[in-house]
Amino acid sequence: MPEISRRARSLGTENAFVVLAEVNELARQGKDIISFCIGQPDFPAPQNVQEAAIRAIREGKHGYTPSAGIDELREAAAGYLSRTRGGLPIRPADVVVAAGAKPFIAYAILSVTDHGAGDEVIYPNPGFPIYESQILASGARPVPIHLHEARGFSFDPDELERLITPRTRLLILNYPHNPTGGLLSRRELEQIAAILKRHPQVWVYADEIYSRLVYGEAFFSIAQVPGMLERTIISDGASKTWAMTGWRIGFTANPLLAPLFTRWITNTESCASQISQWAAVEAINGPQDAAESMKASFLARRDLIVRLLNEVPGVSCLVPGGAFYVWPNVTEACRMIGAADSEQFRKRLLNEAGVALLADIHFGMRVPGEGQHVRFSYAASKEAIEKGVARMAAFIRKNTQKAA
Ligand code: PMP
Repeated sequence: MPEISRRARSLGTENAFVVLAEVNELARQGKDIISFCIGQPDFPAPQNVQEAAIRAIREGKHGYTPSAGIDELREAAAGYLSRTRGGLPIRPADVVVAAGAKPFIAYAILSVTDHGAGDEVIYPNPGFPIYESQILASGARPVPIHLHEARGFSFDPDELERLITPRTRLLILNYPHNPTGGLLSRRELEQIAAILKRHPQVWVYADEIYSRLVYGEAFFSIAQVPGMLERTIISDGASKTWAMTGWRIGFTANPLLAPLFTRWITNTESCASQISQWAAVEAINGPQDAAESMKASFLARRDLIVRLLNEVPGVSCLVPGGAFYVWPNVTEACRMIGAADSEQFRKRLLNEAGVALLADIHFGMRVPGEGQHVRFSYAASKEAIEKGVARMAAFIRKNTQKAA
C-alpha cells in the first residue's frame, strides 16, 4: 500500500469540530442541546456588507485577484490596522489578504522555520489548537508557554525568557485570547518586547483576530512598542469583528514577510474570494454601527454569564477582558460530582444535562497545578445563557446529592 507521510499523520485538528459532531448527533436523535461550543458571532454579517457582496457579483467583480488581494482592500486594511493601533506606519504594500486569518498561521511558521532543523516556536497553552498542529506539521519544535489563572490567563515574562533559546524563531501571541478571553496588558507587552530585544532572531506572530472585542481599556498591539513593528506579523480579519466567519477574509501586515506570504498564497489559495474582498472593503470603510452593537451585546452577555457561573456550586469564573469566551475553573465541581477531570465533566454535562461545552484538553495539555477548566463561547442568546447555566447548576446539585 502507498504510505501516508509522518507530516500528515502529525496534523492535529480543532477538536471543536469533533465535539460539534457529537452535538449534532445528539440533536439528530431529538435531544434538546444548548451549545456554547462555536467560536463565531451569532449575528448575520451587516446589511451594508451583504449589499457590497451582491453588488460585486452583479458588477462582474468575481474573477481571480492578485494573490495579495485587491488594492482597495489592502489600502483599507492598512488604514484600519494603523488607526486601531496608535497610528502605526502600515503601508498597503505591507498588507496581504487571505481566505481568513487562519492560513497565515501556517504561512508564518513555514516562512521563518526550517523543517527538521530544530527550529522552535513558542505558543500559548492553553491556546488555539492550530498553532501546535501547524508547528508540528511544518517540522518545527513546539514549545508551549503556560498561561496562569492567577495572572488573568497571561504568562509570566520570566518564563518566556527561560524558554527562548538560540533556536527560537517565532513567538505566537494571541490577545484577546482564545480560549480564556484573557488579555496581555500594555505593560506585559512592553516586558515581552524588552526580552525580545535581547533575542533578535525571534519573530512575533500577533494573532489579533479579536482586537475589536476588548472591553474596557483600548486595544494595544505589541507592534506599537518601539522596535517591534518590523519583526511583528500583525494578524487580523473580518471573521469576528463584522461577523463574517464564512466569508473567509483575513489580513496580515509585515513589511518584510508580505512578499513571501503573497507567494504562499499563489502556491495554495491563489487569492481570497473577490466577492468577499469587496464586502470586506465595505466592512472596514462603511458605517460601524453593526460592529459596535454586536460588541455591546457581547459585553452584556459576558457580564451575565460571569455572574451566573459564579453562582454555580463548585465553579469560579474570572471576568475576561476580551473576545467572547469564558474559561471557568470547574475543579471543585468535578470533585463534587465525582468526575475524574474536565473532559469527563463535559461529556456528562452534554449527555445528562444537554449543555455543550469544550474542555481544556481541546486547547492543549492541561497546565500543571492550574486545575480543570471548560470553555463557554457566549456568542449565544441571553435566554440560552440563562437556561444553559441553570441546567449546569441543577446538574451539579443533583449529582452532588447522589455522590454524598
Ligand atoms: N486565531 C484565533 C485565535 C481564532 O480563534 C480564530 C478563529 N476561531 C482564527 C485565528 C481564525 O479566524 P479566521 O480564519 O476565521 O479569520
